[in-house]
Amino acid sequence: MKVIVDMDKCQDHGQCVFAAPEVFRLNEAGKLEYESAPDDALRDAVEEAADVCPLQAITVEG
Ligand code: SF4
Repeated sequence: MKVIVDMDKCQDHGQCVFAAPEVFRLNEAGKLEYESAPDDALRDAVEEAADVCPLQAITVEG
């Protein structure tokens, strides 16, 4: 599974972090960081994160 976040859209509010903290985090500067190739076991959480992102900035492939 590949995760791509459009950082031009992302506004760093962190809804995805609540949905899938294993994959998404906010760094010390408050900017989103994420795992771009998470384990497939995290698929449900990643898809939930994509669903809750208000900017629809998260794409899941594979
Ligand atoms: S929920 Fe979407 S806009 Fe918010 S931090 Fe995550 S990717 Fe960025």
